[in-house]
Amino acid sequence: MTLPQPAAPRQPPATIPHQQFGSDNYAGVCPQALEAMNRAASASAPAYGDDPWTRLAAKAVAELFAAPQARVFFVFNGTAANALVLATLCPPYCSIITSEIAHVDTSERGAAEFFSGGARLITPPTPDGKVTPASIAQAMRRTRDFDASTPAVVSITQPTENGLLYSLDEIRAIANACHDNGLRLHMDGARFANAVAALECTPAAMTWQSGVDALSFGGTKNGMAVGDAVVFFTPQLAQGFAERAKQAGQIASKMRFLSAPWLSMVQSGAWLDNARHANASAQAFAHAIAGMDEVELAWPVQSNAVFLLMPERVANALRAQGWRFYTMFGGVYRFMFAWDARADSIAALAAELGRCVRV
Ligand SMILES: *Cc1c(COP(=O)(O)O)cnc(C)c1O
Repeated sequence: MTLPQPAAPRQPPATIPHQQFGSDNYAGVCPQALEAMNRAASASAPAYGDDPWTRLAAKAVAELFAAPQARVFFVFNGTAANALVLATLCPPYCSIITSEIAHVDTSERGAAEFFSGGARLITPPTPDGKVTPASIAQAMRRTRDFDASTPAVVSITQPTENGLLYSLDEIRAIANACHDNGLRLHMDGARFANAVAALECTPAAMTWQSGVDALSFGGTKNGMAVGDAVVFFTPQLAQGFAERAKQAGQIASKMRFLSAPWLSMVQSGAWLDNARHANASAQAFAHAIAGMDEVELAWPVQSNAVFLLMPERVANALRAQGWRFYTMFGGVYRFMFAWDARADSIAALAAELGRCVRV
């Protein structure tokens, strides 16, 4: 019997000749991550994370934070990292304070509530999407009653979903407010590298030295194919995390394909180089459109995102030309730049936007 031969894989047709800036997840895999996967693919190794790559990657991440005692885990994506960290830090009868635009609240389909088995997300009003000591105090007042879901954790996103940075002083003030109230502080660092690159500080300064207890450390948006890290700076806080990750289907049987790229990204410095390039690309786009009629920045460009206010007519015209970008926060247009953003594509997008404004 002859089996049918599979058709040769074909490239999907490109909609436009330029790369898109809809999301930093549109980007491919950077060479450092890809080579590491290739190297890991050429040999057999123990399964479920009991392999040399995973041990070395966890050690390298801990060293990157100058925190040899930190517990480091690798999961498939940021939603799992956030949900499982928050479930580990928050009992099912307590709550998690975060901003009203937090990815954990708006874009994870209740994963934190689900994996915690009952915890609630509380989203007090936050100026520009940034949690403040005042917003924590407000949430604490609202839940003072024994019957309310007492807060146990605060989750902040660095940089925020609208591309802004918390300064180290702001993080410290939030951490103090947390610790004064007996709360833990979690940082959603889906774009943590972009924040480190932008603030030119150490990973340690942005986290445990400023009072952060646990971090979701994004690798995917930084240039890897898959795999985000979780870092608990106090080992006791990690209790139960591995068990939860296993229960949630987040312990990769071939864990080395998540961890080997992490080792390479950290050792080569690509994690920071990629973020610097992405941030500079966002600045280049903002520069290219500065002064354009009817187009305004919604927020200052502080990381790898550019958020624009512009007439719907212009956005529709740009989309009609094949460009992809998100509409967020009830009418702000988001452009995201990644490790692979090319100057010619940025110039093409800016030129097209200029044409769309004039029609
Ligand atoms: C992308 C992102 C995540 C993780 O999303 P996944 O799609 O699950 O990898 C988490 N938080 C923020 C702020 C993000 O932008």
